[in-house]
Amino acid sequence: MASRHKRSLTPVLLLTIGLLIVVYGWEYYQELRTGQRPLALPVRIPTQEAPMLAAQTIGVLVGHENSDTGAICEDGLTEVDVTRLIGKALVLLLRDAGANVVLLTEYDPQLEGFQGDAMVAVHVDSCIDRTGFKVARWTDSPDPARDDLLVACLVQAYLARTGLPLDVTTVTANMTEYYAFRRIAPSTAAAIVETGYLGGDRTFLTEQPHISALGIAEGLICFFRMSVPATPAP
Ligand SMILES: [Zn+2]
Repeated sequence: MASRHKRSLTPVLLLTIGLLIVVYGWEYYQELRTGQRPLALPVRIPTQEAPMLAAQTIGVLVGHENSDTGAICEDGLTEVDVTRLIGKALVLLLRDAGANVVLLTEYDPQLEGFQGDAMVAVHVDSCIDRTGFKVARWTDSPDPARDDLLVACLVQAYLARTGLPLDVTTVTANMTEYYAFRRIAPSTAAAIVETGYLGGDRTFLTEQPHISALGIAEGLICFFRMSVPATPAP
């Protein structure tokens, strides 16, 4: 009996090994073909969109990181806990698509004269029972048309991706006078995103930070696409 079992196990074992070779071989082939390694996130920038981000220099400012907590909820959840989740996911997504990403912390010395194609600051709103996101540029932007385009793209993409309502009525001077706007180079397009409320949007923000990040990344793709100068007629 024992020897018959052994004999019947051999084809099963060979078949299993064969299947593993096929599965891993296919993944390896895809990796070689697309030049992309598997990403430790449940989402990624679609391959056809990635060229819009490739070689772009993008500053991702993780709000309150290395500085303070930001807003604090009664149960101890802090704003920086959430900006870190979203910021890290955003950095991974953009780098995966080939962007040159500079991770910036709050009051980062690298902000001084930062030269990039865009800079986005990621923040989260207070712990009140309210829902929604908003995006703003510097009141004294050196290039209002450029930064308005960035804001419009971020609003449209974030709205479409997250389904959160746009909460324009609560844009504050904290956003439009954000200190970082003054520090970066005038040639860098910049915006600040309040990605949702720690109160009403906490489940979404803490459980799906990658979706929030994807919304911001898609806003950047929109901005770079719309910023491309029209090709002159031959
Ligand atoms: Zn903040």
